[in-house]
Formats: sequence, C-alpha cells, structure tokens
Amino acid sequence: MIDHIYLDYAATTPVHPRVLGAMSPYFNETFGNPSSIHRYGQQAEAAVESARETISSELNCLPQEIVFTSCGTESDNLALRGTALAMREKSGATWILASQAEHHAVSKTAIQLAEVYGFQVEWLKTDKYGAITQETVANAICKDTALVSVMYANNEIGTVNPVSEIGAVCRAHNIPFHTDAVQAAAYLPLDVQTLNVDLMSLGAHKFYGPKGIGVLYVRTGTPIFPIQTGGGQENGLRAGTQNVPYAVGFAAALRLTKEERVQRMDHVRPLRDRIVGTILEEVPDSLLTGHPVDRLPNHCSFAFKDVDGNLLLTLLDAAGFACSSGSACKTGNPEPSEVMTAIGLSRDWGLGSLRVTLGAGTTPAHIDAFLKAVPGIIQQARALTPDKWE
Ligand SMILES: *Cc1c(COP(=O)(O)O)cnc(C)c1O
Repeated sequence: MIDHIYLDYAATTPVHPRVLGAMSPYFNETFGNPSSIHRYGQQAEAAVESARETISSELNCLPQEIVFTSCGTESDNLALRGTALAMREKSGATWILASQAEHHAVSKTAIQLAEVYGFQVEWLKTDKYGAITQETVANAICKDTALVSVMYANNEIGTVNPVSEIGAVCRAHNIPFHTDAVQAAAYLPLDVQTLNVDLMSLGAHKFYGPKGIGVLYVRTGTPIFPIQTGGGQENGLRAGTQNVPYAVGFAAALRLTKEERVQRMDHVRPLRDRIVGTILEEVPDSLLTGHPVDRLPNHCSFAFKDVDGNLLLTLLDAAGFACSSGSACKTGNPEPSEVMTAIGLSRDWGLGSLRVTLGAGTTPAHIDAFLKAVPGIIQQARALTPDKWE
C-alpha cells in the first residue's frame, strides 16, 4: 500500500526487523518444549528464561515476577480476576476501584466480576482530561477494596496518569495496585519500583514486537490466583506451553524500545505538535481531547462537533490515511465511548472523535500530506453528517 499513510500506531505497530531476526531461530531450530527434561527442552527453557531476565532488568524487578501471557488483554484479565478472587479469599474484600476511562480489557473484566462473581465496582471519576488524581483514589480506597486499577496512559486520548502517586496511596493502605501499561510502554519509563505498582500489564505489539504475546508483572507477595489452570508454567500463574519465539520477541522489542526511547520521542513529538496546531487552527468547532501536555508524545486526539466519526474515518481511508477514533464505535446506533463521556463531552461532540498516532515510519512528508487534506475531509464529513445528529 504505497500510497497509504499509516497513522494508527496506538492500534498496533509493525514488528521491528531486529525483533523478527531474534525470534526466527525459535520456530524450527530451537523448537523444544521448555517443560521437557531433554536437551531440546533445556535449550527452549534457556531462551524463555533469558527473555524473562531481559524483561525483568528493563522493569527493575525479579525474573520470577514476570508472567508471560498471550496479550495485553489476557494480562489485564489475570491481574483483575486473579487478584480480586485471591483478595476476597484472603480478606473478604469485595470492592474493585477502576478508572472510568479504562480499556475494555479492564472495564469488561470488572463488570463481569460484579455481575458473575459478586464483586462491586466503583468507577473512579476522571478529570476533564481523562486523568485520575491520587486524591480520588485516596477518597475511595478502604479495607473492603480488593484491587485498584488505573491505566498508565490512555489509548484513546493519550493522557498519562500519575501512577507513582496513586501507587503510593494504595501501598499505604496495603491494597494491590494494577496498572494497564500496554499503551504507555512504547514511550514511558517502566520501572515498577518508581511506579509503585504491584501488577502491570504489557503487550508487545504496541512497541514493535509481535502480536500474541503479553506480560503481567506480579510483585512478590501480591495475592493472585491463576485464571488459566493446567500445568505449572509461569510460576503456576498461567498454564500452557510457553510461546518461545514470541517471548524472545517480546524481550528484544522491549530492550530496543528502552535503547531508542529518546530518539523515538524526539522523532514523533514535533510532528505530533504540528498536527495539533494546524487542526485546532484550521478546523472550526474542533478541540483536543486528553491532556495538552501530560500525554503520550506520539498521540493526538480530537473531537469535532456534528461530525460522524466513523464516516470521517472512512473518508480519510479513501483519501489514503489510516487513522482511528480510538474506540470501537459501532455503526447503526452509535454511542460515544465511555472515555468521551468521562471527559464530559456531549453526544454531538463525543461521536466525532479522531485519533492520530505516529511512529517510527512516520515522515514529515506524511504529515504535510495529511495536514493538506484533513481540514477539507472534516468539512466534507460534517456536510454529510445528518442534521439531527443527536
Ligand atoms: C492495546 C491495548 C490493550 C489490549 O492489548 P492486546 O495486546 O491488544 O490484547 C489493553 N489496554 C490498552 C491501554 C491498550 O492500548
């Protein structure tokens, strides 16, 4: 797709060639089952354990605190369901505190824990930027709290939460704190000691690793049950033969991300700032969603009044630009996403969202082309949006 410009790095990223190279021997050369006793098994086990060590050193934790999962979503599921169930067993706690703006991997798990398992959820209110303050957590937390879950950076609007401060509040109350760092990992520091987290979810495909592999960091001593039972892999927390090449790929991608973090930021931030400046200046009835400063450096997101966001994405795609609204907005009877509602946008604004996220392959020429086309395309989408868009 030579004429198409990819501006959706928050949805996923291509696998870095060096990551692919690191993975490749583990498909058919070193192909053993890490649980086998013989040398094929030992070699595969050595690869998984070396990947685990790399990751633990990047996160500043112990290797045995790293649990490989199949994706960020599974990590979120294990963190919430596993810890909620174990905390109830341990202390009788039944309340889950989660931000209003969480990814569905967290929010739908919390809802299931309430509807099926008898927990209660308190949705923590965000400010107008979609952020949670430590005061909000401090006012809600109590000894009936089983778990607090607040994401590191928001996938839809890019806002970064004060995770370290929130973690300190949870620690003072001795309540497990989980952060979904899936979107943050490409750009933000991941030291679990400074972040004060007990559980942290990651997924490789958001930072130039492969899809289908995730990690959950679990601090030693955190109450947690496995949610997938079977063999004793992953410290008994995630049964199933490890995905050896992908675990190797995860580690390679994470190490590369740490090495290149500053260059990657310096590359995307000025391009992102140009997009924000131009759109807010040239498009009437437009606003930036999420925090103007405390946001991911590759991320900008907007709301346009009286614009059908899905239609806008279709028109952009036809013009050669792959963007997103940042949420899975259904056609038919569209509802603004929970995040748009959390930041206080009314329906006529909340349905017209646009997320533009940059990455390693983005060039200044891409942004020139995008900014030349986008005001006209938004105008076109607005003209085609039915009058009674309410
Ligand atoms: C992408 C994403 C997920 C889901 O991760 P997968 O690896 O795609 O399952 C969860 N949370 C956030 C914030 C994300 O951006």
